[in-house]
Amino acid sequence: MSHSAFYYVDGVLYAEGVSAASLAEQFGTPLYVYSRDALTRAYHAYADACAGRRATVHVAVKANSNLAVLNVFARMGAGFDIVSSGELARVLAAGGKAENTVFSGVGKSAAEMREALEAGVKCFNVESIPELHALNEVAKSLGKKAPVSLRVNPDVDAKTHPYISTGLKSNKFGVAFKDARATYAQAREMANLDVIGIDCHIGSQITEISPYLDALDKLLELVEQIEADGMSIRHVDVGGGLGITYDDETPPDIGEFVKTLLDHIEKRGHGQREVYFEPGRSLVGNAGVLLTRIEFLKPGEEKNFAIVDAAMNDLARPAMYEAFHRIVPVVKRDEKAHKYDVVGPVCESGDWLGRDRELAIAPGDLLAICSAGAYGFVMSSNYNTRPRAAEIMVDGERARLVREREEVTQLFAGESILPD
Ligand SMILES: *Cc1c(COP(=O)(O)O)cnc(C)c1O
Repeated sequence: MSHSAFYYVDGVLYAEGVSAASLAEQFGTPLYVYSRDALTRAYHAYADACAGRRATVHVAVKANSNLAVLNVFARMGAGFDIVSSGELARVLAAGGKAENTVFSGVGKSAAEMREALEAGVKCFNVESIPELHALNEVAKSLGKKAPVSLRVNPDVDAKTHPYISTGLKSNKFGVAFKDARATYAQAREMANLDVIGIDCHIGSQITEISPYLDALDKLLELVEQIEADGMSIRHVDVGGGLGITYDDETPPDIGEFVKTLLDHIEKRGHGQREVYFEPGRSLVGNAGVLLTRIEFLKPGEEKNFAIVDAAMNDLARPAMYEAFHRIVPVVKRDEKAHKYDVVGPVCESGDWLGRDRELAIAPGDLLAICSAGAYGFVMSSNYNTRPRAAEIMVDGERARLVREREEVTQLFAGESILPD
């Protein structure tokens, strides 16, 4: 990206035209802050590279499903990629269209299939033979034909963290490459399915193009076989997974990535097919930060701890994947820096946000946890009965609350005690 929406002026962090300190004052902490401009620019990087070609962008809702975020994309004409009927409801509430939405996921329930069919989604990305049967039954009961693509597992190494690598044989996702042709043949025999495409999704936080090209080669080989068997494959869905810079990673530029894949598909003689992209992280990851306030500094014999008011329930990625997020002061101090582990108040040793960080800080200071726009708020929980953080969107000089901070009483409003 040419410039960041988050930058310093005289040692003070800004989000677009608003000082991060003033946001924390106004809305409290922990606080998720998104930049409309950053979302817009990341989307345009994809959309501009797709312009004039047979290619469309489907925003992966699971990376950040706040209605305001989805609405920013919907206004620009984005399609969506969902993994639950809950996400479908969000897309529709945010102004997105079912006919531009693809439905992914390894365990769709019959109720979810019904809702998505009734809404008229663009395609079901199906992952197994039992799922094909289930979808066929649901479609039959509604007197409809379900548009179907098979998620094929191309067995390529995406060279990313094992928990976010999804395209290897050992993963639960997709139809095994060697079974795919026969599975397509079975799908064709099902009267209420309309086979229209093929898809894959090989992992997340991928910082090289080569795994995508390897996966594409296998998919296109399969497409040729399937068409020889008499089916027609209108679209190739390459999934999401493009990485972002958290630390010193250098992922390919979005436009470059899109162009390379589209050129590759054309060169292989498949340029007539529509190509779907399903980006999540690369659209929203660096469009958000999490602001947190330092409660206490706790010096120790082996480690110094900075105990902050955000925790693993607010941002699970460090605890879950040992993920690295840059942590920076909201107002820089001139003093000497010390090394700290930045940790939350949750009663788990796994509750850390950053380790061994050089910081010049004092109690009461604000920190910004960077690159928190993807798989941040959406993975948050109420563990330790902690209300989830507020979310705001900055748009130029304005900041708007796009999700209220939860109240403790909301957290147990649906619970009840035994009558006697
Ligand atoms: C998670 C997911 C995506 C988005 O992945 P990112 O790494 O966030 O780009 C796209 N497609 C499918 C099927 C997914 O499960």
